Amino acid sequence: MAKGGTFAAKIAKGSSARLVRVCPKCGQNIVATKVVTSEKSDVKNSWKFNQRFVDVCKCNEAEVYPS
Ligand SMILES: [Zn+2]
Repeated sequence: MAKGGTFAAKIAKGSSARLVRVCPKCGQNIVATKVVTSEKSDVKNSWKFNQRFVDVCKCNEAEVYPS
């Protein structure tokens, strides 16, 4: 009568160990997304690009991805 409970428990443990964060407000997974923003430098009259990672979930996706 092998039920494989140990194996299932192992899988559950493995999946929970992955880096998945859930937003406490909206309950959606939080996804770290690379966002590139451009800034104009007045001094050099050239564009400068900034890369940063933003945590995106339902709460702020409209801000991060303006339609
Ligand atoms: Zn959220």
